[in-house]
Amino acid sequence: MIDFDYRAPTSLDEALALLQQHGESARVVAGGTALVIMMKQRLVQPELLVSLRRVPELDAIRADNGTLRLGATATHRAVETHPVVRERWPLLAETFHHVATVRIRNMATVGGSLAHGDPNQDPPPALIALDARARLRSATGEREVPVRELFLDYYETDVRPGEVLTEVLVPTPPPGAGWAWVKFLPRTADDYATVSVACLLTREPGTQRCRDVRLALGSAGTTPVRAEAAEAALRGEDLTPARLREAAQLVADAVDPIADFRGSSEYKREMAVVWARRALEQALARAAA
Ligand SMILES: Cc1cc2nc3c(=O)[nH]c(=O)nc-3n(C[C@H](O)[C@H](O)[C@H](O)COP(=O)(O)OP(=O)(O)OC[C@H]3O[C@@H](n4cnc5c(N)ncnc54)[C@H](O)[C@@H]3O)c2cc1C
Repeated sequence: MIDFDYRAPTSLDEALALLQQHGESARVVAGGTALVIMMKQRLVQPELLVSLRRVPELDAIRADNGTLRLGATATHRAVETHPVVRERWPLLAETFHHVATVRIRNMATVGGSLAHGDPNQDPPPALIALDARARLRSATGEREVPVRELFLDYYETDVRPGEVLTEVLVPTPPPGAGWAWVKFLPRTADDYATVSVACLLTREPGTQRCRDVRLALGSAGTTPVRAEAAEAALRGEDLTPARLREAAQLVADAVDPIADFRGSSEYKREMAVVWARRALEQALARAAA
């Protein structure tokens, strides 16, 4: 391991001041599950780690006026097991439940899962399907970014030097919305996905017609992917099995998977189509008629 200094401030202002003072030589650490591996591999070599773990309130999870607020240092396990999340945002509870193992979920945080920018991670597609926004603070101000716009490229996000992702705001899904989160794991149950798909779907009341749908995929390119053409092919249409199949087929052109030991790019593209269809079918089965 490289040498580095470590600070664990007890307020967000103190953390932001440290980041401003040390510029790009400092790095935020939350759960450390990703960063420490990258440091051991010499992929990043920060001189100072600024831990968020002692900043009070940053791990809060609460629902305010229909918006779920996930504090940046809330762990995956805390999200997965939170009663309000399980009851009102089951798509999120299901997603976080399937990240790695319980040991990782006890350490890894909501903020880390977004700021890390790894396109194989599970929470980003689910948060994109739910139309979540990320709140970012620096010593000089605050801004909000839709989660779908946070990912710029492979391990590259819009979290700027000096900024801390402080919380994620998730709106309540529309009444009667059906949801699905599926993760294709052909190797082991705690692996990263070969492909994962999150879906939120609503019908026009009393009909089979699609009012709205959001479909987002992980492990499908250099960033999480929103399958907009597939969504557009469904809005306003009757949700017949044939229509779902046709829409899922459009996912093939939206994804550009990276070949690795989980499969070739072509194989993953085919799996993206198959698992997108399954996600649409599951979401439809859960959507109120
Ligand atoms: C064995 C193993 C298996 C895994 N399997 C899965 C899996 O199946 N699915 C999955 O989704 N993920 C998986 N992961 C990845 C894991 O979810 C991530 O490592 C975790 O989400 C990162 O969160 P963290 O809090 O540990 O981040 P850290 O390691 O602390 O930080 C990661 C990066 O984000 C930055 N950062 C962290 N918090 C903030 C913040 N609030 N504001 C600004 N920047 C911040 C850090 O500076 C760093 O660049 C696995 C990891 C391991 C080690």
